[in-house]
Amino acid sequence: MQPPFDVAVVGGGAAGASCAVHLALAGFNVVVLEQGPSPRSKPCGGGMAASVQQWFPFALSPAVDQVIRRVRFTWCLEDPVVAELPGEAPFWIVQRQRLDAHLLQHATAAGAELRQNWPVHALQRLGTLWELQGPAGSLRARAVVIAAGSSSALGAPLALGSPRPRYASTIAVEVSAPVQESETARFDFGLVHHGFCWSFPRQGGYSIGLGTFIGREPADGQTVLEQLLPDLGLEADSGVRTSCALRIWDGHHRLHGDGVVVVGDAASLCDPFLAEGIRPALLSGTAAAASLGQWLRGDGQALALYSARMRREWGESMAWGKRIAQVFYRVPRIGYQLGIKRPTAPQRIAQILSGQMGYGDIAQRVIKRLLFQQG
Ligand SMILES: Cc1cc2nc3c(=O)[nH]c(=O)nc-3n(C[C@H](O)[C@H](O)[C@H](O)COP(=O)(O)OP(=O)(O)OC[C@H]3O[C@@H](n4cnc5c(N)ncnc54)[C@H](O)[C@@H]3O)c2cc1C
Repeated sequence: MQPPFDVAVVGGGAAGASCAVHLALAGFNVVVLEQGPSPRSKPCGGGMAASVQQWFPFALSPAVDQVIRRVRFTWCLEDPVVAELPGEAPFWIVQRQRLDAHLLQHATAAGAELRQNWPVHALQRLGTLWELQGPAGSLRARAVVIAAGSSSALGAPLALGSPRPRYASTIAVEVSAPVQESETARFDFGLVHHGFCWSFPRQGGYSIGLGTFIGREPADGQTVLEQLLPDLGLEADSGVRTSCALRIWDGHHRLHGDGVVVVGDAASLCDPFLAEGIRPALLSGTAAAASLGQWLRGDGQALALYSARMRREWGESMAWGKRIAQVFYRVPRIGYQLGIKRPTAPQRIAQILSGQMGYGDIAQRVIKRLLFQQG
């Protein structure tokens, strides 16, 4: 039988690939098990704070499609507010497929093994090892990283992550077209019930989408797109459309067990207000690799440090993001007037999107303002 790997990573998306690359660079024997072919296309706007670069010892620029310098907010496509993003190139649009492939390429160059078309169906603890089973057979590893995305069911039996995950409903549209205002990302509140829609420019077209954050179905999705696309100078029915459920942050949960951690969407880390999921996927992959490295070297407490770090560096901000979302998306018109249209608000949102600020820095004032106006 094949000797056990140090770490088996289940899922080759942003979270799994970032974990694998750090572990492989640290000299561990890593296998990435990806259920599909790799790279795998997935619905994602690709908007990402450039500050994630700090977590990687190699340039992420090959995955960057567009640098965003301006964010434009509207209410039902009108009443615009424009925020100039602070600093040098703080917000990127990446091609998700290229980002995942880039990270996996560095992981394999550092010695990780990538097995494609290898869906993991079950995990079992056998003494000090884990056995991973799938139709392609089984293999053993000292530690497991569950990085299998929003639809993953692998964490629940191990009591990792949220026991009853919450989901946003999304529709993603990829449109090939000449791009106007290539440095401006757009967000509209008001067209989507309990949510928002966005349009991100990329090379040769736009990544457009909408998400509903309270309740499950964006019932008005097609109607919204019929209004949004012509506003961008596009045919109302243009683009390739994909609907999917996105697991969002819904509370502080344990993200580690005995030789196992959960990262990215599988750990319900996605921002419940603005659907930012790439940054927490990369952060959790990086943080999990650091803790697993210590654990594999014999520090039995190291995995608990991963859960604690994610709570401190991400969860505390998301707890405020969830409260803001619950108030804002119930009274979005008031939210837009009092939250977005304030002179300082666009700059604050830009700072949150570029990773310079957390929701906790603004939340108490925003919520008080919204509740006071409601009452
Ligand atoms: C429409 C839409 C737009 C979005 N736009 C943005 C955006 O602009 N900015 C942003 O920050 N976030 C965005 N997000 C969120 C972001 O895409 C996710 O949070 C991010 O992809 C999470 O990465 P991940 O690695 O955890 O999961 P994924 O990228 O989903 O990767 C999981 C991987 O695991 C594999 N897998 C699943 N099950 C198994 C199994 N049993 N065995 C083996 N492999 C398995 C899958 O094939 C997949 O490759 C968007 C999401 C949606 C739906």
